[in-house]
Amino acid sequence: MMKLLIAGNWKMNLSVTDTEAMLSELKNKTRSDDVDSLIIPPFTSLDAARKLLDGTGIALGAQNLSHEDDGAFTGEISADMLLDLGVSHVLVGHSERREYQKETDALLNLKVKKAVAKGLIPILCVGEKKADRDSGEHESVVGNQLKKGLEGVHTTDIIVAYEPTWAIGTGDVCKPDDAQAMAAFIKGELKDLLGTDAVRVLYGGSVKPSNVKELMAQPSIDGALVGGASLKADDFAALINLGE
Ligand code: PEP
Repeated sequence: MMKLLIAGNWKMNLSVTDTEAMLSELKNKTRSDDVDSLIIPPFTSLDAARKLLDGTGIALGAQNLSHEDDGAFTGEISADMLLDLGVSHVLVGHSERREYQKETDALLNLKVKKAVAKGLIPILCVGEKKADRDSGEHESVVGNQLKKGLEGVHTTDIIVAYEPTWAIGTGDVCKPDDAQAMAAFIKGELKDLLGTDAVRVLYGGSVKPSNVKELMAQPSIDGALVGGASLKADDFAALINLGE
């Protein structure tokens, strides 16, 4: 069994001042060493977060990267810029970016490859919509996202986050059995695609201190990607302590 990873995706929340307050508080909370942790703030807070996380063992992630190296791409952020700020992980294909920024599997594949080539660990987010689950298409939708997103990728230095879109920010958490079944399915697909399933698979979607323990007890789930419940130091510390 792999060491669990609890990753907090702040989305478009917390100013630099809020970041400093949150992380100063988090630093003073007791956290389990048995669990790896990762904070994924907005770009504007990366520098402040890096300074506060230094020496804490909590890693720093970004919410997106460009598939290009540099040049005339207004508003984009490159892998080198992230590395320069001490970032080790980067989200690729969060469902909100797939939906609102219309990011396609082909573009996400370029982003995964760019992250890997630069030594960043991409967290490829996959997950079905409610209609896909209701029609029993969830495995084929997620299988397809994996196949396209990981085409030509040959490394185990990646993470996959299974996030059914109907569970994100809704309070409608996936049943632990269903999350386990999908994580096991994803590991099977990874074995076919990468030749190994020694890749962390996270679950994301309405994880909170009250449900984290049961979800993290599932044998194929290696951690959680958490949005709303990662914004407050008390909640995030409780998640790392698996709700204790
Ligand atoms: C997310 O944004 O990846 C997420 C899982 O959000 P929430 O925990 O708020 O459902």
